[in-house]
Amino acid sequence: MPSIGFIGVGHMGAPMARNLLKAGHPVTIFDPDVENAQAMVNAGAKQAASLVELASASDVVISMLPSGRELRVAYLDNDGVVAHAKAGALLIDCSTTDVDSARAVGDAAKKRSLPFLDSPVSGGVAGAEAGTLTFMTGGEDGAVQAARPILMAMGKNVVHTGSNGSGQAAKICNNLILGISMIGVCEAFVLAEQLGLSPEKLFAVSSTSSGQCWSLTSYCPVPGPVPAAPSNRDYQPGFAAKMMLKDLRLATDAAEKHNKAIELGGLAKQLYERFVQDGSGDLDFSAIIQAIRQR
Ligand code: NAD
Repeated sequence: MPSIGFIGVGHMGAPMARNLLKAGHPVTIFDPDVENAQAMVNAGAKQAASLVELASASDVVISMLPSGRELRVAYLDNDGVVAHAKAGALLIDCSTTDVDSARAVGDAAKKRSLPFLDSPVSGGVAGAEAGTLTFMTGGEDGAVQAARPILMAMGKNVVHTGSNGSGQAAKICNNLILGISMIGVCEAFVLAEQLGLSPEKLFAVSSTSSGQCWSLTSYCPVPGPVPAAPSNRDYQPGFAAKMMLKDLRLATDAAEKHNKAIELGGLAKQLYERFVQDGSGDLDFSAIIQAIRQR
């Protein structure tokens, strides 16, 4: 089994790395967070003292970092992954980042003939724990084929989206749809309350009509109709509002860079910005219904 070096073992990275251990891969981790690192050592991983140690010992390097900033540091610094990876090692970043950072790392890896994939995920912590993530994967075909069995140990679906950066583009565009659609669903439920229509009846109609969407049928923002939705557990995430804000910022920044107006995306970003500033960033993103109800 190829040895894996896993960088960043937080909410998402830890269950992903545990699934790789379960599949029989030797896993070495690196994370400056002492508690997160220790939890993985307890689960059977080896801990590297530095990225140099991790990179020089691993056939495959996988990262799950907060943003493009940490990605560039981890891969592009003199004592980072690209400079110290074994010849022929496969590099896979699963974080959600801006497209430019993914391409910059891909270009640097290419100079050392190292295959790099930007492969962000959909499915959240529950999907990471259950091993049911969807990967949207940008990079060369051969690298995607080589990565597939490893990704399938952590997920159930790998979509090859194109060249480097396209995985991040897919993630950003998908979550743009998600952020806007959640606000639309919340506004509909708040209006229904004003019109004397019960949430159960609106759900019964919209979940089988043209208003049907994932924000409604999987993450319904009112408690009741979807028992597994965060609205039934005081909006504990799930997918935190601050993460949705991060992804909407990536979308609006990308649109601005390419001189494209995404007006609803801009409004959705503003609403989530206010919600996070008001102290609700750690609630599930469906909790924005509380702010919409108050307006
Ligand atoms: P997290 O903050 O729980 O974990 C990030 C980990 O990276 C932490 O343990 C942190 O200590 C570590 N880290 C930070 N800088 C580092 C560095 N330079 N080297 C090594 N480790 C470093 O975040 P998360 O919720 O696991 O999210 C990780 C990524 O996954 C983000 O890009 C996020 O957008 C994406 N994502 C998250 C979710 C979700 O539901 N949480 C869903 C899909 C995608």
